[in-house]
Amino acid sequence: MDWEGSRESTNVEDLRGQPMAGGGGGVPFGAGGGLGIGTVVIVLVISYFTGINPSVLLGGAQMVQGARGGYSAPAPSQARATAQGGAKDRTTKLVRSVLGETEDVWSQILPQQTGVKYVPATLVLFSGATSSGCGTAQSAMGPFYCPEDKKVYLDTSFFHDMETKYGGGGDFPDAYVVAHEIGHHVQDLLGILGKANDQEQQVSKTQANAISVRIELMADCLAGVFAAHARNWHVNQSDIQQAIATAQAIGDDRLQTAARGYAVPDSFTHGSSAQRVQWLTTGLKSGDVKSCDTFAQ
Ligand SMILES: [Zn+2]
Repeated sequence: MDWEGSRESTNVEDLRGQPMAGGGGGVPFGAGGGLGIGTVVIVLVISYFTGINPSVLLGGAQMVQGARGGYSAPAPSQARATAQGGAKDRTTKLVRSVLGETEDVWSQILPQQTGVKYVPATLVLFSGATSSGCGTAQSAMGPFYCPEDKKVYLDTSFFHDMETKYGGGGDFPDAYVVAHEIGHHVQDLLGILGKANDQEQQVSKTQANAISVRIELMADCLAGVFAAHARNWHVNQSDIQQAIATAQAIGDDRLQTAARGYAVPDSFTHGSSAQRVQWLTTGLKSGDVKSCDTFAQ
């Protein structure tokens, strides 16, 4: 994947190395039931490629529910954190570049294709835990989009673990994570996220799961639409293969065991890795937001 020529976005808040703002001294890692870091990482990696872990996959919708349930956290002191900046490591550069490219692409194609103006999201880099408009963000939750404050929360140790422990990381999977989360932001701008959340409140858990899966697959498709238009973010066949290989590197049994060990086991009916690749490919081929209507099927 070629990304080094992309403009780096300025809409990044680097909170890494900051004490958790407004919190009570941090949140213990693995608070979801004493999970080891290995299990957590497996769950996180799986979630991206197979759609198992709802705290990642149901991301936006769940976060909205959390916020509506009265779970709120004070806003972090962002001005101070932003002014301090962060380490200019390669991952940070990649994240900034991909985010910059999403801004350039979506600002152009969202109005063209849907008549909706694109308002950029902010991406928050944190380590360990931080407060968000949707409650406390923890590393163990994986990256997510919070519609309440229009921010993507990302702990870059997630990328590091993907690469060092599972050999499944790399530029494309990393960039794909960012593009997928921005896909949720696009859904939010289009009013789809809010509508889906309203529906999820009124139906059974199984039906709510089905809605969440469609939301996730749509975000995958939107990541593909973005990639189709990105001038400096060319996805090639080997990138897709890389994503598939990562999914396949983790067998179903291991996957389900890991997922059962996690807090929310209701979500096994989720999109398979094949579905995720299928929808990503759909977006890549069409370059058209309309092709991403996962609710029409
Ligand atoms: Zn998602």
